[in-house]
Amino acid sequence: MSEITNIVTPIRLDYTYTAGHATQRFLLGMAEGRILGQRCPECAKVYVPPRGACPKCGVPTTDEVEVTGKGTVTTFCIVRIPSDVLSVPPPFTCAHVLLDGADLPFFALIQECDFDAVRMGMRVEAVWAPKAELAATFESIRYFRPIDEPDAPYETYKEHL
Ligand SMILES: [Zn+2]
Repeated sequence: MSEITNIVTPIRLDYTYTAGHATQRFLLGMAEGRILGQRCPECAKVYVPPRGACPKCGVPTTDEVEVTGKGTVTTFCIVRIPSDVLSVPPPFTCAHVLLDGADLPFFALIQECDFDAVRMGMRVEAVWAPKAELAATFESIRYFRPIDEPDAPYETYKEHL
């Protein structure tokens, strides 16, 4: 008899949590087609989405900052297995996008280009849901797509990997 080294067990965990003021403000911005973050009053870092406090300084982030939907791919991964939460057939690419003016990368789906064309430094922009479908959810941004701008130099995002 051979040794059993691992088994596959389907597991699903659903979480319900209180959004809190910062996340609520961010999600309400999504419903308006706006990307809202907050700036730390001590180190000036801009968090998008905001969590209500700066993890580095330990102080509340109360200054609201609106950033554009343009940003830079800092890291990415190619997904080759189907996802229950995304209707996109594999392979597809997900990336951390550092939005212009923000200091925290935003996790996003990249579309409108070959999955293997995505690269570090690639400039992208948010593609929003139609106005009538905007809601207080991350899904108001359908995905990000490449824009016709030169790749960002590594030095401009290396601190955000
Ligand atoms: Zn800070």
